[in-house]
Amino acid sequence: MRPVGSWGRLSADPHHVVGLSDLHSVKDVVVQGPHPGVAHGMGRSYGDVCLNPRGTLWVTTSLDHFIAFDSCTGRLVCEAGVLLRDIQRLFIPRGWILPVTPGTQLVTVGGAIANDVHGKNHHVLGSFGDHVKSLTIARTNGEIIQCGPDECLEWFSATVGGIGLTGVITQAEIQLRPVSGPWLDTETIPYAGLDEFFRLADDSEAAWEHTVSWIDCLAPGRGRGLFMRGNHTRAEHGPAPKVRSFGVPVEPPVSMVNQLSLRPLNAAYYRLHQWKAGHFVAHHESFFYPLDHLHDWNRMYGPKGFFQYQSVVPRDVGQDAIQAMLREISRSRDGSFLAVLKTFGNRQPLGMLSFPQPGVTLALDFPNRGTRTHKLFERLDAVVREARGRLYPAKDARMPRDLFEAGYPRLTEFIKYRDPGISSGFSRRLLGS
Ligand SMILES: Cc1cc2nc3c(=O)[nH]c(=O)nc-3n(C[C@H](O)[C@H](O)[C@H](O)COP(=O)(O)OP(=O)(O)OC[C@H]3O[C@@H](n4cnc5c(N)ncnc54)[C@H](O)[C@@H]3O)c2cc1C
Repeated sequence: MRPVGSWGRLSADPHHVVGLSDLHSVKDVVVQGPHPGVAHGMGRSYGDVCLNPRGTLWVTTSLDHFIAFDSCTGRLVCEAGVLLRDIQRLFIPRGWILPVTPGTQLVTVGGAIANDVHGKNHHVLGSFGDHVKSLTIARTNGEIIQCGPDECLEWFSATVGGIGLTGVITQAEIQLRPVSGPWLDTETIPYAGLDEFFRLADDSEAAWEHTVSWIDCLAPGRGRGLFMRGNHTRAEHGPAPKVRSFGVPVEPPVSMVNQLSLRPLNAAYYRLHQWKAGHFVAHHESFFYPLDHLHDWNRMYGPKGFFQYQSVVPRDVGQDAIQAMLREISRSRDGSFLAVLKTFGNRQPLGMLSFPQPGVTLALDFPNRGTRTHKLFERLDAVVREARGRLYPAKDARMPRDLFEAGYPRLTEFIKYRDPGISSGFSRRLLGS
C-alpha cells in the first residue's frame, strides 16, 4: 500500500498500486487481482474519480504503445495509457492532430475517454468521445467487450464519460484530423461584462474553432475578462514552442492563493493581457496547454490542497446563473485565479454520464479552507440546481447526491453497465458502492 492523491491534493490515502504494462495480461490482472479496483491514468482529475482509498489502482501509464496508424485516413489505434502529448508530438509533424484536447496534454487516452473531456472547440467538434471509433474494455469477470458508435453502442455510451466504472479500457481507435502545422491564428479581446462575453461568444462561434475566456471573478462590477479565439493556420512559420519549464519546487506551508494575493494578481493579469490584446500567431502547445510548462503548480495551494468547481448551466438561464455565482464568489472573497468561462455547442452528450451539454460552463479553483469553502459551494450548488445544470465529476470531490442525480438523468440506465468489481472514491460517495 502507498499513498496516492489526485491533482487537487485533497487526500493521500493508501492504495494497493498495480501497474498494467502488457495489453494481453490486463484481463488476468483485473480478474485475479484484489477487488475492488479502478483504472488510474495520470491522476489529472482533481477529485476522487481516479482514486480508490484502501483499494486497488490499476495504473495504466505503461500501456503506452502505438498499435497502428493509417496515414490516408488518419485513424490511430493505440493503448489506453498513451499520453495525448505523445500523440500530438508524433503526428502533428505528419499532418494530423487530435480533434479535441483538454487544457493539459499530460493525460492518457483512457482518462480522456472515461471523462469524455472537452476542449475549446466543443461548439464545432464536440468532446473527445465523438472521435473514438472503437474501444476495448476488460471486465473483472473476464469479459472483453469491443464497442463503438457502430457496434454495441450501449456499452460505448456507458464507457465514454463512464468514469472508469464499466471496465478497464485497454485500447482505442481514434480519428485524427488533418492539420497544416502546429500554429494557430489567435486573437485576445478584453471584455467588460458578461453581456459582452455572450455577444463575443455568439459572434465567434461560426468563424472561430476555438473559443475560451478567462474571467476575473473578484473584479467589482459585472465580470470583466479576456476572450481568446483561435483557428488552425496554414502558416509555415511561427513561434517555437516554449522549451523552458519551471516548477514549484517546494510546497509552501499555506496556500499562496489567498485574499491578499488574489485580487492584485487577477488585476495584474487582466491589465497585462489587455495591453497584449490583438492578433498573433501562437504555437499550439502555448495556446492549448499554457500551464503544462509550470510543473506541479498544484502545490501552490499548500498542504490542504484545492478544489475545482466546474458547472454547466443551460444557455437560456446562463447569464443570470453565472452572474449569481460570480456574486457569491466575489462576496466570499475566496475566489480563484484560474477562472474559465466557455460556451458549449448545441449537441447532446454522447455518453450517459458525459459532462458537456448545451450551455455555458464556468470552472474555478478554490484553496481548501474547510467549512468556509464548503459553505460557498453549497451556495453555488443552489444556483446550479435552480438553473437545471450539472457539475463535472472529473473535477468533483464533494457534490451532494441529489445534484448528481438531477444533473445526470441517464444515471439509472448507466448503472446496468457498471462492473461490480470496480469501485472508486467517487462511486462510493455518490452511488453507494
Ligand atoms: C491543468 C488541467 C487542465 C484541464 N483541462 C481540462 C479541460 O479543458 N477539459 C476537460 O474536460 N478536462 C480538463 N482537465 C481534466 C483532465 O483532462 C481529466 O481529468 C482527464 O480525464 C485526466 O486524465 P488522466 O489520464 O489523468 O486520468 P485519471 O485522472 O487518472 O482518471 C480519470 C478517470 O478515468 C478513468 N480511467 C483512466 N484510465 C482508464 C482506463 N484505461 N480505463 C477505464 N477508465 C480509465 C479513471 O478511473 C477515472 O475515473 C484538466 C486537468 C488539468 C490538471
